[in-house]
Amino acid sequence: MVDSSGTDTPLQEAGDDTIIWGQESDGRFRIGSAYKVAVEWLQENNHGDAAEGNHTKWISAWKWPGPNRLRHFLWLCLHNRLMTNSERKRRNFGDTDTCEFCKSGPEMTEHVIRICPLAAQVWQRLGLIETPLTHGLNFAGWMATNLKKEGTNLLFGVAAWLLWRRRNDWIFEKKFQESEILVHRIRAWAAVIKQAQDNNRQLLVDTTGDKTRQELAWQPPPADWIVINSDGSVKHPNSAAAAGGLLRNHLGRCVGAFVTNLGSCSITRAEIVGALTGLQLAWDQGHRKVLIHIDSTAALAILTGKDRDSRRYHNLTRRFQNLLQRNWEVHLSHSYRECNKAADYLANKAHGFSLGTHSFDISDSGLKFWILYDTMGITQDRLI
Ligand SMILES: [Zn+2]
Repeated sequence: MVDSSGTDTPLQEAGDDTIIWGQESDGRFRIGSAYKVAVEWLQENNHGDAAEGNHTKWISAWKWPGPNRLRHFLWLCLHNRLMTNSERKRRNFGDTDTCEFCKSGPEMTEHVIRICPLAAQVWQRLGLIETPLTHGLNFAGWMATNLKKEGTNLLFGVAAWLLWRRRNDWIFEKKFQESEILVHRIRAWAAVIKQAQDNNRQLLVDTTGDKTRQELAWQPPPADWIVINSDGSVKHPNSAAAAGGLLRNHLGRCVGAFVTNLGSCSITRAEIVGALTGLQLAWDQGHRKVLIHIDSTAALAILTGKDRDSRRYHNLTRRFQNLLQRNWEVHLSHSYRECNKAADYLANKAHGFSLGTHSFDISDSGLKFWILYDTMGITQDRLI
């Protein structure tokens, strides 16, 4: 669990721009495990000064008021751990360390977030320019100060994350977002996160009893894996049924989406069709390590043969079982609807299509909104 190579971080092999957390077997980021590992490592290695610095960095990320997954990202920033060109070159993954946007210096974490003219434009438009309070501070100090600053700290953290994503969107999708538009997005996302937090607080106030509160958020698959999220939807009074779903990689990027209009049928059938269509698409696209998250426990029980009712869906389950027996790794599991916002969106959209299955445009702005929502790990509370 603990890095023994003598570098200054408790995170092993986690320097990529991935959102997988290496300290838990399921890859989920948990504050508790991260803090425990950090503290243990510091104690074992007896790094008094480093401990002080790392403690400050830790607290800055940990106390930041946004979603956990973004805290993890901010923690990586504070430790200069983003997979930038400099980092790639250092590891012999690339041959240039130059920032390909401004070409004015090596692309390091500080360059991406603070120094690059592209970042400076955004800070200026957001009104978060250097103040006497931050001027002259080193990168970690500058970040820590901004992450603590009441009133603008949420905006600051979201901006840092979206600045990093803008670069990645350019690299992976060759789409560049102008700073003016990015600034609107940053403000909008800070507002969405705030709203989700207020809703959760409201939910807690409204309910009584001894139910346990669980925070639920979409989980990315491990590297090299694809996760399928599918969902069914039935609208009354005509029982108009539809399904939809999408395939995402470990970075949360969508690699395929579909919608199916089923005419009229039960919600369980719609859920099963959604899972089946997603699985078929994953196979057709050549993925061989696949997780399927299904939010309907009834559909899951039928697909895994644990429900006697499965005879009614014999044709569908047989097709599903045939697919499973091919030469690939597939894991089925249950996930709560709250973790499945993008699939929920697609299932609703599917009603507007003609009968049958259609591939869905992954650049659709509504879909992109819910994908980013899921990717940020914005939590919904559920009382279980
Ligand atoms: Zn630059």
